[in-house]
Amino acid sequence: MMSDIYCSECDEDLASGHDPDCSLHATPETYKLTLCDGAEGQSIYLDDHRIAGPKPWGGGTVVKTWIVRAKDLKSAIERA
Ligand SMILES: [Zn+2]
Repeated sequence: MMSDIYCSECDEDLASGHDPDCSLHATPETYKLTLCDGAEGQSIYLDDHRIAGPKPWGGGTVVKTWIVRAKDLKSAIERA
């Protein structure tokens, strides 16, 4: 099941005609951050790599996907 993909900058649904002036869309390096629902709980994926939560055995459901900047991820990790 496909979910909508949201811009992390303005939280617009990219499938429904997103603002082309949004600065995130001029950013070449981006990742997908995805929240999934599985039988054993929720999990978080970064570009198809699970980084938190249990593996959704038997297939999970995508709750929401955001497009995020590589730069913002790097800043977050450096400050952690
Ligand atoms: Zn945007």
